[in-house]
Amino acid sequence: MRVTPHPATQPGLRVPVRVWPGWGLRLSFRGVEVLIAPSAFLVVTMHAVAGWAVCGVIAAGARTALGWPTPSVTGLSAVVVFTVCGLAGVVAHEAGHAVAGRMLGHRLVGVRASAIPAVRLDYDDLAGWRRIFVSAAGPVIQMLVGGVLILSARAWSDPSSLAGWETSATAVMSLALPWPSRSDGGKIWRAAIAALIGRTSR
Ligand SMILES: [Zn+2]
Repeated sequence: MRVTPHPATQPGLRVPVRVWPGWGLRLSFRGVEVLIAPSAFLVVTMHAVAGWAVCGVIAAGARTALGWPTPSVTGLSAVVVFTVCGLAGVVAHEAGHAVAGRMLGHRLVGVRASAIPAVRLDYDDLAGWRRIFVSAAGPVIQMLVGGVLILSARAWSDPSSLAGWETSATAVMSLALPWPSRSDGGKIWRAAIAALIGRTSR
């Protein structure tokens, strides 16, 4: 399979190419370009709001209606725990892509924290099973983190357990849904279909 190296990794280029375009706080760590886009704060806020809704409103309602056990952490602390656990799932997801790429011999060149977090390897266009492996690694690791959060919680109404369910559900959706096409599921579906078509036309 032919793959295209990312322009930012081509040493012959006189003008350095940014791995990530756009606005934000731009850092560099051992040759890895890190972009913290303004929309990253939106993701933190969204997790906090989800934590408030799930740990506060829904869990409190379920405690009354279904007799759920009282969580070990409540109130603002529950929102903080939920947010931190949810974001840990996101970080683990991107780390999963980076580690899978590393296992195939690809270097990590960019990390983006934004509304759509992402990592970029030194090759833009992985194909076939390589693409499936790297694309699936993120959601699979995120799912494992979700599982650990659920299993390690003292009660299933604990904010870390609820965040574990949210993290696992997000991972399953990003793995299974073929849309949008740039999502992990989209990449996996396209690579799998392309491999199948290639096999049958041979
Ligand atoms: Zn991903």
